[in-house]
Amino acid sequence: MSFHSTNYNSSHVDFKTAVLQGQAIDNGLYMLNNIPRLTDDTIDSFKNMDFIDIANIVIRKFIGNIIAQEKLQQIVNNALNFKIPIEKITNNDYMCYLDRGPTCSFKDFGARTLARIMEHFLEADNKNITILTATSGDTGGAVAQAFYKMSRIKVVVLYPKNEISDLQRKQMTTLGENVVAFGINGKFDDCQKLVKTAFSDKELSHVNLSSANSINFGRLIPQTLYYFWSYSRIVGKKNEKVIFSVPSGNFGNLTGGLIAKKMGLPIKRFISAVNENNEFPTFLKTGVYTKVDPSINCISNAMNVGHPSNLARIFDLYGGQIDEKGVIHKVPNMEELRNDIISYSISDESTKDAIVNFYNKYKKIIEPHGAVGWAALQLYRNSYPKNNDIKSLTFETANPSKFPEEIIKLIDIVPKMPYSLEVIQDKSEFPNPKEINDYANFKEFLLEEFQG
Ligand SMILES: *Cc1c(COP(=O)(O)O)cnc(C)c1O
Repeated sequence: MSFHSTNYNSSHVDFKTAVLQGQAIDNGLYMLNNIPRLTDDTIDSFKNMDFIDIANIVIRKFIGNIIAQEKLQQIVNNALNFKIPIEKITNNDYMCYLDRGPTCSFKDFGARTLARIMEHFLEADNKNITILTATSGDTGGAVAQAFYKMSRIKVVVLYPKNEISDLQRKQMTTLGENVVAFGINGKFDDCQKLVKTAFSDKELSHVNLSSANSINFGRLIPQTLYYFWSYSRIVGKKNEKVIFSVPSGNFGNLTGGLIAKKMGLPIKRFISAVNENNEFPTFLKTGVYTKVDPSINCISNAMNVGHPSNLARIFDLYGGQIDEKGVIHKVPNMEELRNDIISYSISDESTKDAIVNFYNKYKKIIEPHGAVGWAALQLYRNSYPKNNDIKSLTFETANPSKFPEEIIKLIDIVPKMPYSLEVIQDKSEFPNPKEINDYANFKEFLLEEFQG
């Protein structure tokens, strides 16, 4: 399995390099040269399998024999050791819950699988690596928890001290061991800048820095799995088509789904549900791409992205090219793109309405990200009544208990906190390892930490 950069300005690499490097040196994202295919019969047979068996078949298609069968089984078993419940909401509409991992966000799928694949490769090469991550909240916790206690991997997370919740901070600062979390006086962008500067600093090359954010292809493979799984739970006859509504920010989740479709999964259409950051639906409508800069703060805060990095991969899948700055070098096949994806922008007002209506109608609590997905599905259902007999799946990507203030305000109920979050609340935190005011400070830390 080989990979090219979406900027087409660096050489092809194998899976291992794509995973350990994270991003191509020309600032493009790594993308598969060929998408593997599953036969209709194989996909049909998933109906009678459990998640781990489906996962093994799908992942094996990507990585061939690079990782031995038993090892792969072990990686998947350990990484994805949580439930993926599916609930029937209406006659044809289902909700699929991706929030049951340890940090209660769908990012656990990618981060936990990537961590174990990386560790496996490092073990084989007898190498160590340092993961540098800037976070606006959720990613840092998922990455820190995923790599916790891995002996060959050190994790350094930077977060904006005054812009994340206590719970989000505690997911990073209560761990210790190989995880160091810095609270920065500044915004997410300041954290991001420190990380990017470190990546391009030649004097740090011996530190072996790598990234684990959503640009790493290793995170996309596990994000194809729940598409196959959830599909197999709800369909009847072979080749039945379904609709997926995907709450989207950086478009890694949607990219996983598009890859699943190219692998053969019968998907009628994707609904890409975005919040008020509407650059993608506007692009689909007009063909003109304009970043939303600065991005708009919405209550579905993990989706406040004004220029999604995975757009580069989506363009690539449809024969186009867009760079990291948002400049289009080649227009993708718009007809095919519009055929496969419809995108709706959902305002905070409509997101709140969706949470309230969902509770009133179905007596179930959804949180802001899933609510954006559900609201977009309603718009689709109203516009395409002729497709009403086609089943749909909407992803709930986080747990309602991560947004207690909003939920209490809207429906006057305190969402129950899962055990994995509850235990963190009472743990003591490690102090901020060092005041970081500028890049020089940060570099000093990295050099001290990794000398010799
Ligand atoms: C990251 C995130 C999203 C957006 O996923 P993308 O892959 O970036 O589109 C949606 N919901 C939650 C809860 C998230 O953490």
